[in-house]
Amino acid sequence: MKKPFVTKEKIEEIVKTIPTPFHIYDEKGIRENARKLMKAFSWNKGYREFFAVKATPTPAILNILKEEGCGTDCSSETELMMSQKCGFNGDYIMFSSNDTPKEEFAFANKLGATINLDDITHIEVLKNTCGIPKKISCRFNPGGVFSLGTDIMDNPGDAKYGMTRQQLKDAYKQLKALGAEEFGMHAFLASNTVSNDYYPTLAKILFELAVEIKNETGISLSFINLSGGVGIPYTPDKAPNDIEIIGEGVHKAFDEILVPNGLGDVSIFTELGRFMLAPYGHLITKVINEKHTYKEYIGVDACAANLMRPAIYGAYHHITVLGKENEPCDKKYDVTGSLCENNDKFAIDRMLPEIEIGDYIAIHDTGAHGFSMGYNYNGKLRSSEVLLREDGSFKMIRRAETPEDYFATLEGFWEL
Ligand SMILES: *Cc1c(COP(=O)(O)O)cnc(C)c1O
Repeated sequence: MKKPFVTKEKIEEIVKTIPTPFHIYDEKGIRENARKLMKAFSWNKGYREFFAVKATPTPAILNILKEEGCGTDCSSETELMMSQKCGFNGDYIMFSSNDTPKEEFAFANKLGATINLDDITHIEVLKNTCGIPKKISCRFNPGGVFSLGTDIMDNPGDAKYGMTRQQLKDAYKQLKALGAEEFGMHAFLASNTVSNDYYPTLAKILFELAVEIKNETGISLSFINLSGGVGIPYTPDKAPNDIEIIGEGVHKAFDEILVPNGLGDVSIFTELGRFMLAPYGHLITKVINEKHTYKEYIGVDACAANLMRPAIYGAYHHITVLGKENEPCDKKYDVTGSLCENNDKFAIDRMLPEIEIGDYIAIHDTGAHGFSMGYNYNGKLRSSEVLLREDGSFKMIRRAETPEDYFATLEGFWEL
């Protein structure tokens, strides 16, 4: 069963000063999970997690992860700016972007970030924009489909990211000729995997390729970046990944493939987003309407603009009616927001306890790709974000948008 990390009483205390809707984050959960990850990869001397900023671009969250030893993974100018502002130094910033504007290469390079090239043509761009840095990474795409056992997990052949095997080898040779001295490899082959086999399987593919690269080009990689993709169970029937088993699986592949081939000094990097944050965020929203037509509808004060995943992917997010955790789920509801879009539904035909206007609802697993995917359709405003600290106190870490924010980019709006 999924249990929320906040109680109804806590939410009633918070809403006295911070109105719903808001995303709330559990500092204790974030820290404990980050420590488990660090422990799982502590066998690797150079291990580092670069948190994917796009999942939760909020400085208070980045600072917690920084204290736990993480860096950041950025793919835009503003994500780089935020990382710099939060005090991450160059060695702790990865720039894994695609379709990259050349100005962003220059900015990443200025910060001393590690640039992860998505395409071989970017070598020329980089050379002409800011020069080839000493340390550089390349993104690999094996094509085809990626499967674990008999399960097809994703379709790299249809993905816009990364270079082919041959391009990758050519890229390392070109980069070396242009003065690069330290090389890394990156690949992201499947998203939200709920399986302890994803990283070990990916690691094996990349480790074998690293040996091939060494044999064919003489280049010894110094880091291999397993990127993101370790997922979380959004539905209550699934068991979470066990990061200790995952770390051990990568360790085994490392010892079997890299060590005997003289690559035992390779650092392992990760760029996890969802795994680091998703379970440690809830979207808290209040029931403001009920409607009885062909179905039973519960209208809340949040909408898809605050959490887009159900609307765009049909994603399941578990729902708890706070204070009714132990009541029977014997009513069937659609839980909706107010957008003029029929896909603005947080749940469809969901069995829940009887809901009344004024109830507070916790929508689970919104800590990653939740607030950050928000948008302003229908003139909806982005919510605030709240941090639940380890001692049980709370702090607003981002205020809600106001109409003034919404109108701020319209030239001359207030003079109309
Ligand atoms: C989105 C992304 C990640 C994080 O993915 P998760 O599924 O949240 O772990 C990591 N690296 C890159 C390059 C990404 O685009």
